[in-house]
Amino acid sequence: MRKIQMVDLQSQYSFIKEQVNNSITEVLESAAFINGPEVQNFQKELEEYLDVKHVIPCANGTDALQIAMMGLNLKPGDEVITVDFTFAATVEVIALLQLTPVLVDVDPSTFNIDIEAIKKAITPKTKAIVPVHLFGQCANMEAIMEIAKEHNLYVIEDDAQGIGADYTFSNGVTKKSGAIGHVAATSFFPSKNLGCYGDGGAIFTNDDELAHTLRGIVNHGMYERYHHDVVGVNSRLDSIQAAVLRAKLPLLDTYNTKRRKAAVKYTEALKGHNHIITPAITEGALTENNNHHVFHQYTLRITNGKRDELVKFLNENGIPCGVYYPIPLHSQKAYMDSRYNENDFKVTNQLVKEVISLPMHTELDDDQILFITDKIKEFIN
Ligand SMILES: *Cc1c(COP(=O)(O)O)cnc(C)c1O
Repeated sequence: MRKIQMVDLQSQYSFIKEQVNNSITEVLESAAFINGPEVQNFQKELEEYLDVKHVIPCANGTDALQIAMMGLNLKPGDEVITVDFTFAATVEVIALLQLTPVLVDVDPSTFNIDIEAIKKAITPKTKAIVPVHLFGQCANMEAIMEIAKEHNLYVIEDDAQGIGADYTFSNGVTKKSGAIGHVAATSFFPSKNLGCYGDGGAIFTNDDELAHTLRGIVNHGMYERYHHDVVGVNSRLDSIQAAVLRAKLPLLDTYNTKRRKAAVKYTEALKGHNHIITPAITEGALTENNNHHVFHQYTLRITNGKRDELVKFLNENGIPCGVYYPIPLHSQKAYMDSRYNENDFKVTNQLVKEVISLPMHTELDDDQILFITDKIKEFIN
């Protein structure tokens, strides 16, 4: 059996090596390092894949979230609702822009933003909701878009973990994650489902005017060379990263299918076992061509209080695993606030003690999954 890795980017690279090496060499020889044709081509190809009008590439996922919020012209003091259970980048940019983060609890079965908690958190100052498609499954976008419409709020999707995931509305219409809200942000960090070989990110929107604004913000607020109309930033996807992404984008659906197959195997082996809750998946989402969950992470809940011991046991047996996330954002020094009440974060407070994410990548094989699940069952009996 091959050594088990949390993510296996080396094996993945071996399959696309020739193409990636050739296109990187082309970039090197053309010296079009910034804004070269690779970037423009990638942008077009991603717009087509997502069926979204505008993709604005930028330097990383955190910038993408920040620039999206800058483009919506949110003002200091505006309240932005997001989840207590996510990577810190989501709330970081809200705070950085001097907007007021309003953290809310998540749904215990999907780990995604709790709809009732959003409704409770809305005030006259609320301007936006940032749902995070955590671990690769879309938040309840139908309910979120309805709330947003009713209260005249922007919806900014944090699609860093959900790229390639589908979402189906009750009327049968299916859209890609990131193509549903007013604007979305994603990350091409190497371990993400669509990862480059360094940092990268992008913003998506169907709004022409917003897209124009965003294209200026990423480029020092310039719409005409050396005319700075708004305060911008310098946030670019470089051509080498775009070349890597162009090689990987046509494989994204295949990659996500492989992840889903690994998830099915994990669930088959662990389902119904005492003290283990396997991830909740929308009905039908495990069939071959159904992309409703793209398993950025495969995350279990361990309910007998022994999660940390299990982590140690798995590590001792050569099985890497992760705890995403071990501390609720409302308990982090940087984001603590007297506005918050512990009773409003019951689910997150519980999840941080129970969650464990297993190795998940495109090169996991059946032997490895069997070994991992056997070890988990050996420990939790
Ligand atoms: C990875 C991630 C980000 C940030 O992406 P970077 O490219 O690392 O800046 C933001 N939000 C979530 C949910 C993420 O997982």
